[in-house]
Amino acid sequence: MMGRDAVGVDAAWLRDRTARAVISEALDRAAPHVGRSGLGIFVHLQPARALAAADRIDAALRGGASPGPLAGVPIAIKDNLAHAGEPLTACSRILDGYRAPETAPAVARLEAAGAVVIGRTNMDEFGMGSSTEHSARHPTRNPRDPTRAPGGSSGGSAAAVAAGIVPLALGSDTGGSVRQPAALCGVVGMRPTMGRVSRRGLVAFASSMDQIGPLARSAEGCARALRVMAGPDPGDLSCCTRPLDAPTVPAEVTLGVLPTDADPGVAAAVAAALEVLQAAGARLAPRDVPAAPRALAAYAVLSSAEASSNLARYDGRRFGAPLAGEDGAALRRLRTEGFGAEVQRRLLLGAWVSAEGHGDRLLERARQARSALTAQLEAALAGVHALVLPTSPTVAFTLGSRTDPAQMARADRLTVLASLAGLPALSLPCGVSGGLPVGLQLIGHRWGDAALLGLAARVAAALRPPVPS
Ligand code: GLN
Repeated sequence: MMGRDAVGVDAAWLRDRTARAVISEALDRAAPHVGRSGLGIFVHLQPARALAAADRIDAALRGGASPGPLAGVPIAIKDNLAHAGEPLTACSRILDGYRAPETAPAVARLEAAGAVVIGRTNMDEFGMGSSTEHSARHPTRNPRDPTRAPGGSSGGSAAAVAAGIVPLALGSDTGGSVRQPAALCGVVGMRPTMGRVSRRGLVAFASSMDQIGPLARSAEGCARALRVMAGPDPGDLSCCTRPLDAPTVPAEVTLGVLPTDADPGVAAAVAAALEVLQAAGARLAPRDVPAAPRALAAYAVLSSAEASSNLARYDGRRFGAPLAGEDGAALRRLRTEGFGAEVQRRLLLGAWVSAEGHGDRLLERARQARSALTAQLEAALAGVHALVLPTSPTVAFTLGSRTDPAQMARADRLTVLASLAGLPALSLPCGVSGGLPVGLQLIGHRWGDAALLGLAARVAAALRPPVPS
């Protein structure tokens, strides 16, 4: 295993190595985990393109060009992010054979900064799931314990970082899909403020909550990526023009502690971490969000309604698998065979809650819960630098152990809060329970993304006693 500096999210090491060497080593580390083999992390590797990009970086460096901030950093991207010419399937059969016509700006900006995409990672189909078991391809295994799920839906990206294959990966977070797998795999994962990163080129699930987010071994790694990815995009007018905030960390940190019903092992690890932070000078203030128990239901209603509208575009005419026939039965067959069971379940729920009649009252109640939750989270943030709570109520669970969709969804009950409110949030490793990683979640102020990452770096440093040299 390479040392952290050798593959850190930092170009400094290129001083004595070539980008080609670094990228080909990353490809070698990835190769045993493609498809069902190994940990099942990748659904596609692109060695020729990655090595050609590495050669261009080496040639530019030889020519005296100043390297970009991520020059030669190997990255992996979730299979719902467009990279021109590469497969783009969101791990769904309905998109078999589809190739992206353009590159998502978030990915293009990382490439322009010198990062090199080595491959595409496994995910729950269309981002719908919390374990990466709902991929139409194969499950991914957790590098910390291969009998367990890596979390989801960005489980492949989290596993790629946790296994030391790449120092940086991209995921997407609608209801927790970056933070929860980061927690279960023991890495850092961040969901930026809604509108901070362009969503163009991200396969839509629930557009009011979908955000692209980085996964890395440290908050600093996520910050380096976000600095490059953030910014306005004329092709996504929901993306804000406000510059990234300054990564200032106050001398005295105050954290608002939210009560949760996490498993005892998770709760104990988080409580122990908070004690360490307090001993290091952080002030802890209790905070309450009374609407929190309604968040999961509101998320289920709103995300399914948006998904049923977004996924209507898979009609066999524009993307992926073509229609076999002209009649309605052909369309029904395409969508029944093309979408997995979990996606169909969400589409049915979404169509039902969006229909006129009793369903529309549910949508209205979900919207009200969302507004109340947003107002309460913003009120709870007053006077504190961030809110703290566990990321996931449990540690990584055994593959195949969660067959009930309601039980699976409960994995998201602590992450959907920030999603519904559009607030930035991240997960960082804070301890272990039963030998498995526990993630601490920090929810930050709207547009305070860099400050949140700065705070996370400070928190991580306090939790990790310095290693004597
Ligand atoms: N696990 C949640 C869901 O299944 C969140 C998914 C996501 O963030 N993409 O909807």
